[in-house]
Amino acid sequence: MLNLSVLLEDAARETPDRDALVFGDMRLSYAFLDSVASQVADLLVAKGIQPGDKVALSSPNVPYFPMVYFGILKAGAVVVPLNVLLKPREIAYHLGDSDAKAFFCFEGTPELPLGEMGWAGFQETPGCEHFVLLPADPSATEPPYAGAELFWPALGGRPGTFETVQTSPDDTAVILYTSGTTGQPKGAELTHGNMVLNAMVSDRNFAGTDHDVSLVVLPLFHSFGQSAIMNTGMRRRATLVLVPRFEPGPALELMAREKVTIFGGVPTMYWALLSEAANAPVEEIAANLHTCVSGGASLPMEVLKEFEARFGVKVLEGYGLSETSPVASFNVPYKPTKPGSIGTPIWGVQMKLVDEDWKTIEGEGPGEIAIRGHNIMKGYYNRPEATAEVMKDGWFRTGDIARRDEDGYYYIIDRSKDMIIRGGFNVYPREIEEVLMTHPAVSLAAVVGVPHDSHGEEIKAYVIPEAGTEITEDDLVAWGKENFAAYKYPRIVEFRETLPMTATGKILKRELR
Ligand code: AMP
Repeated sequence: MLNLSVLLEDAARETPDRDALVFGDMRLSYAFLDSVASQVADLLVAKGIQPGDKVALSSPNVPYFPMVYFGILKAGAVVVPLNVLLKPREIAYHLGDSDAKAFFCFEGTPELPLGEMGWAGFQETPGCEHFVLLPADPSATEPPYAGAELFWPALGGRPGTFETVQTSPDDTAVILYTSGTTGQPKGAELTHGNMVLNAMVSDRNFAGTDHDVSLVVLPLFHSFGQSAIMNTGMRRRATLVLVPRFEPGPALELMAREKVTIFGGVPTMYWALLSEAANAPVEEIAANLHTCVSGGASLPMEVLKEFEARFGVKVLEGYGLSETSPVASFNVPYKPTKPGSIGTPIWGVQMKLVDEDWKTIEGEGPGEIAIRGHNIMKGYYNRPEATAEVMKDGWFRTGDIARRDEDGYYYIIDRSKDMIIRGGFNVYPREIEEVLMTHPAVSLAAVVGVPHDSHGEEIKAYVIPEAGTEITEDDLVAWGKENFAAYKYPRIVEFRETLPMTATGKILKRELR
């Protein structure tokens, strides 16, 4: 028997008075968080939610997220976290596709009216019976939509203790929606065993203090924020400082104010923090910060080196996918770390390289990463065919192309679908981006293939220039010509002030293409 809510319950028993959550001026203890989660579980049971039923949750990084998440788990139900950027039609798709019976939705703000969009999506989904609004103003007494229920009044009078439903390690705990390597968003079914083990192993992969403080800027609806940061943080009984919207300046101030010891982010966040470092209390931050973790996309070497030098802390790069709960490999602090590498498979997990026919590739590769172990999802919810495409004999294939060195460290070359084929030659954007970023006038680069009449695809670089420098397209193309083989250098360069990103902060290559 194992229930993922053990992470919160254990922390509430061992460190009841410690701050579990900091949000603005609000500080909520582990005991309080656990009691609200118990009330949520009691509410769900009263509504007839059964173990195994799906319950959706749409919330940015505000205290409601962990309150509802752990409440759903305590009731033995399955959490379906939704991306907060979804529009009503997409919300309806996710609610229907996951067979959600109930939906907890944050009210949002005038700029991001999540509640209105959630309510519209809910009304298009006949199978979803209950809508609970998580109000921006906790003292609200009237729901803005007739038929919706308000969170706090619904919890009123419910006991702050709940006997957690005993689930098995193989029961589904969470369904995380991901596009995977292809097509429509699909729900990756992750079990209690998957999620607990990923938090346990990630815990061991962080250096640590008795009382860590973790800055939670990665969205909690995504696997990286949820599992590697929130759940691992709970496992460590850390204080989680919740940030609903990442902005580098305020994030740095918060790191100093709250004496943050752990930071987890995607590469663009490291890049953005660096761009604000000149105006930040870097020494104060560096005095406490002991672990930085990067994942979700390749961390450019220039950003890694500069961040480590500036903040005096090692940045440990890890790798994984929603389907792998998410951590699959990591540069663990107790082995030599290798910059540019995603490290070695985590404890209890195996990795190998395969070709298109699943044949194992020995030696250095390159090949597609396949993963086996306690972190692999059960499958995509209700999609046996899509599951069979990516899983065979317990191995899961990732769509990511990598090399492996003689010490067993893996190096991501690129996602197979991001590869550019120019005039018959394979070009991996990551290599071009890494080199472009060594140019003094280039701050951030993203390379994509664009259609071309005779070459099939042409290489195009989108570049955010370094502040205070001047550079033209011709300069950079000429520089590329000197530094790359003829089939590799970008013939088209477009300068931009920003690049489109996902809610997690990954650069949206699809949109650039
Ligand atoms: P998601 O399912 O949204 O977590 O996305 C998973 C994808 O993120 C993987 O298939 C990789 O393409 C990418 N990814 C994650 N970590 C890394 C990393 N350290 N380096 C390069 N790509 C990464």
